[in-house]
Amino acid sequence: MNYRHGFHAGNFADVLKHAMLCWIVRYLQQKEAPLCMIDTHAGAGVYDLTGPQAKRTSEAENGILRLTKQADVPSLFVPYLELIASFNTTDQKLYPGSPALVNAMARPADKVILCELHPEEAAHLRQTLKPAKNTRIVAGDGYRTLLTLVPPSEKRGLVLIDPPFEKPDELETLAKAVTASYEKWPMATYVLWVPIKDRSQFNRFTAELQNAAIKKLSLLILDVDSKEGLSACGLIIANAPFTLEAEWSGAMKWLTAVLTQGAKANFSISTLA
Ligand code: SAM
Repeated sequence: MNYRHGFHAGNFADVLKHAMLCWIVRYLQQKEAPLCMIDTHAGAGVYDLTGPQAKRTSEAENGILRLTKQADVPSLFVPYLELIASFNTTDQKLYPGSPALVNAMARPADKVILCELHPEEAAHLRQTLKPAKNTRIVAGDGYRTLLTLVPPSEKRGLVLIDPPFEKPDELETLAKAVTASYEKWPMATYVLWVPIKDRSQFNRFTAELQNAAIKKLSLLILDVDSKEGLSACGLIIANAPFTLEAEWSGAMKWLTAVLTQGAKANFSISTLA
């Protein structure tokens, strides 16, 4: 377990994943009924963009730090950017990861469960988060914990699965976990983040999910055409808000233009099932 999200915090992939996360949570919160939100791979919580890990890669320079320089931002990104601003009331440069964002958005009756396997990252998560009333941090395996928690009494909610992809069989593990969880809790919205390095492997993964009888499956792909490191990633969303395509088409066009690193940068939004 060598992966540390601090080296990647605020990069283009985080921007897409976290803007989507905020948009979905706000969408689900339009109804008063409480939500259960589970982040199976939470990471360290809040990251210092001036710290040694972020400085080593400077990935945020081509991610969030490009967005915060924009004068005109589509309204869809405003809640996400406002949340980031709320973590930066002093002249620090902090970037809230998924558990910090979900925890900050939770209403008093919403339940939040954050799982992190790496002991140091879990300890950092505890230190950097100001847990909301019903936020619980589990220092353990997110896949296993997920299956013990679903279906929650809240009935409505969200599961984010954002693994580090260090293991060669991570896609298989991810497909099995989401399929098993969906069988027990088909009402939830599932957001899976996947790096795209090998298109045919990625297509096999999405085909496996299509075959798993998940009724409503959407796919967003962003390729920033980077010549170094990761260039493309996908968000696979089960039970996405029905306005996804209508609201995200224009937003993705803008985001791709802001985050582009080469002439072939592109995005797509499609329905898989
Ligand atoms: N979701 C975070 C965010 O967006 O801010 C980033 C998470 S990072 C990509 C993946 C994290 O999963 C790492 O911190 C790693 O230590 C942790 N991890 C790896 N295997 C895990 C497992 N089986 N269960 C829970 N966490 C795990």
